[in-house]
Amino acid sequence: MSHRAEYIWIDGTQPTARLRSKTRILADGAEPPEWGFDGSSTNQAEGHSSDCVLKPVFICPDPIRGGDDKLVLCEVYDTDGTPHPSNTRARLRPIAEKYAAQEPLFGIEQEYTFFEGARPLGFPAGGFPAPQGGYYCGVGADEIFGREVVERHLDNCLKAGLSLSGINAEVMPGQWEFQVGPLGPLEVSDQLWVARWLLYRTAEDFGVSATLDPKPVKGDWNGAGAHTNFSTKAMREGYDAIIDACESLGEEGKPLEHVKNYGVGVEDRLTGLHETAPWNEYSYGVSNRGASVRIPWQVERDKKGYIEDRRPNANCDPYVVTRLMVDTVCTRLEK
Ligand code: ADP
Ligand code: MN
Ligand code: MN
Ligand code: MN
Ligand code: MN
Repeated sequence: MSHRAEYIWIDGTQPTARLRSKTRILADGAEPPEWGFDGSSTNQAEGHSSDCVLKPVFICPDPIRGGDDKLVLCEVYDTDGTPHPSNTRARLRPIAEKYAAQEPLFGIEQEYTFFEGARPLGFPAGGFPAPQGGYYCGVGADEIFGREVVERHLDNCLKAGLSLSGINAEVMPGQWEFQVGPLGPLEVSDQLWVARWLLYRTAEDFGVSATLDPKPVKGDWNGAGAHTNFSTKAMREGYDAIIDACESLGEEGKPLEHVKNYGVGVEDRLTGLHETAPWNEYSYGVSNRGASVRIPWQVERDKKGYIEDRRPNANCDPYVVTRLMVDTVCTRLEK
């Protein structure tokens, strides 16, 4: 008997990487081995020497095929045994290890938008729907577009064993969110990439596409972000560490370094409007959805918990975002 393993990897498309996958048939009981692919077709190699290597790093049940079939998330390596330049997970590994004793946890809110052809789902042909107001967490066919896809995606994520913590309809019609975590930096990032793959794959069966475009509709419509909630053991135990974390993210040079690595087009989304802070002005505050970093109200009340970095774009790479946050915040907390 045999089963199917869907090997999933992140490609080298610039400026924003895409997901790729292909199927391998494995004998039952066999661990998914390393595998190869044609890197010249994924912006990861030149044609004259195009082999790249897939190394399995996270394996879970495949909820689409079911049975014993598996999803196999991989890191990409060159044939000389070094991580491929596009392999951002390899750069997160040593940082996650270095600060593991501080027990960093992340919960990432992935916003996204469904499209049917060239229009967001719910946008009438050649026009615009009623202005924003009733769509966020709405109910009813006049406000909600794509719920059957969203429910199927949630179902698939849970069947795969991913740690989703919730879903909600967003401020623009056709726009939704799911949350992954809280989990460690590698775990939350692996699961978010697999959840993204499941989103595209699930929507495919409904004839709609999903995009992580941070500003899918120009004008007075909310963009799509990936608010990144973060804590360390010290932050979960006391308020000084919460304030320290907010301060370290604001240290000289840090705001720009972070924003530049929080997803392509971040300047277009972080305008200061639509519940964002301007990309070039760092701020933090309690309950403030117009700040770069928000301290949730219950965290101030309880004097412990976590902070929310509201800046990452929907199209960010969680391996990069979590690496920067752990590196910036944990260095200071270690002192
Ligand atoms: P919002 O009010 O900003 O929409 P959400 O409920 O969408 O918040 O998301 C909050 C996220 O914070 C969830 O993914 C949750 O798992 C995560 N979270 C909760 N506690 C912690 C913690 N201590 N450390 C990190 N993340 C946390
Ligand atoms: Mn071939
Ligand atoms: Mn949310
Ligand atoms: Mn949201
Ligand atoms: Mn949020």
